[in-house]
Amino acid sequence: MTTTATTTSAGYATELRLLIGGASVGAGARATIPVLDPATSEEIGQLPVATDADLRDALASAQRGFARWRATSAYDRAVVLRNAARLIRERVETIARVMTIEQGKPLAESRAEVLASADVIEWTGEEGRRAYGRVVPPRAESVRQLVLREPVGPVAAFTPWNFPAITPARKLAGALGAGCSLIIKPSEETPATALALVDALRDAGLPDDVVNVVFGDPPHISETLLASPVIRKISFTGSTAVGKHLARLAADGVKRATLELGGHAPVIVSDRADLDKAVKASVSAKFRNAGQVCVSPSRFLVQERVAPAFTEAFAAAAAALRVGPGVEETTQMGSLANARRRDAIHALVEDATQRGGTLHTGGAALDGPGFFYAPTVVGDVPADARVLSEEPFGPIAVITSYRTLDEAIAQANALPYGLAAYAFTQDVGESIALGNRIEAGMVGINHFGVSLAEIPFGGVKESGYGSEGGTEGIDGYLVTKSVTTAS
Ligand code: NAD
Repeated sequence: MTTTATTTSAGYATELRLLIGGASVGAGARATIPVLDPATSEEIGQLPVATDADLRDALASAQRGFARWRATSAYDRAVVLRNAARLIRERVETIARVMTIEQGKPLAESRAEVLASADVIEWTGEEGRRAYGRVVPPRAESVRQLVLREPVGPVAAFTPWNFPAITPARKLAGALGAGCSLIIKPSEETPATALALVDALRDAGLPDDVVNVVFGDPPHISETLLASPVIRKISFTGSTAVGKHLARLAADGVKRATLELGGHAPVIVSDRADLDKAVKASVSAKFRNAGQVCVSPSRFLVQERVAPAFTEAFAAAAAALRVGPGVEETTQMGSLANARRRDAIHALVEDATQRGGTLHTGGAALDGPGFFYAPTVVGDVPADARVLSEEPFGPIAVITSYRTLDEAIAQANALPYGLAAYAFTQDVGESIALGNRIEAGMVGINHFGVSLAEIPFGGVKESGYGSEGGTEGIDGYLVTKSVTTAS
């Protein structure tokens, strides 16, 4: 398989900038970071790196912004978020194209992600209007006891490159819906998508200082921001290793944290499943965003009797996927987002096959420019293969078989991760047992739809803590205060 990168990066927003104190800040004398189109590996822009003075300015701005935004009523905040959602929907084509060019996913996926981002911003703005406290019955008639929910303070948010819109949108929405200001550092590899969302918020009436956007060296920026007493909370989406590091930094300042970390989602396919449905849904979910998804199905545990049929059908469907530049409408799987992922996936495939796994399809990078890797299916993977314990984060499906449901659940729960888990079965008893016994923040049975504005999204174990989305999405940005008044 080869790819032809016939397309250009026309349509990419080239004005890469920081946003500090309500002002766009271009490179000037600052260092810059090249941004690449992963489908061609060509440079498409230069991103300014925030200086230490920029970070200090951003902190001062976030402090001013917090004073201003917390004093804005929840009703008025929701109006801004609702208008921003409308603008994002109106701009879906432009933003989706920018995302595809800088990240690699097919346009259809980018459009869906932009629209989902609008949904989460709108939903969370409305949740801000329902951030109710309560009245607690007092012990004396002359006393009134209130429990208030207040915004925690300025937030530092860090988002990755795999979902350049929805990950910033969740953090922007939660913080802004609750009345917090924030400094957000989106991924340096996909900066323009996040800037487009922030532009929509500002065009919708978000005051200056409430959101600041910085880019640069991630460890330096997170250390600087977390060392500041201005920042009261962090929210991070990314790997478990970085999440642990940030949790330690947050602990030093007793700052709250929402951590959305890695996963290694099991998919239990029972011999009582609708196999055609399981294969179709699994292939589509597995290769979405070329597998670079924290809730991507990554360990297929298939009951012995149906394992050969499942594997054969899955591999055939994977091999038939149209892989190509994301900007081409016919593409079903785009390039990986960067060379690191392509090389990491290849190393995992080599390890699995060298240890005795059977390669059913794929197993190689594609010739031509860009960071393409073939949809890959490896069966009979031995338990000691790295891919069974390390988060693969790429277009590789690993299939093993099991005999009993107890055995499958034990395997599913064996890793330190606990983000998403899935199962396919038509048996009600099995469905209930799976829903009860799987250790994960999200469980999808007979489908993969776990990520919607109105349901909580988050993990357990080493996949993190806190939820984004649902009525829980705003909780992490609120603190509780009791006010007791005697006459
Ligand atoms: P990485 O862990 O270094 O980076 C992931 C993200 O975290 C990037 O956006 C990066 O800018 C940011 N980051 C890294 N160090 C940071 C720090 N000290 N402070 C603040 N932000 C920091 O590595 P990577 O090569 O980009 O990805 C490697 C692995 O990370 C993937 O294989 C995958 O397992 C995981 N990952 C998970 C998610 C997710 O959605 N949970 C997203 C991206 C990557």
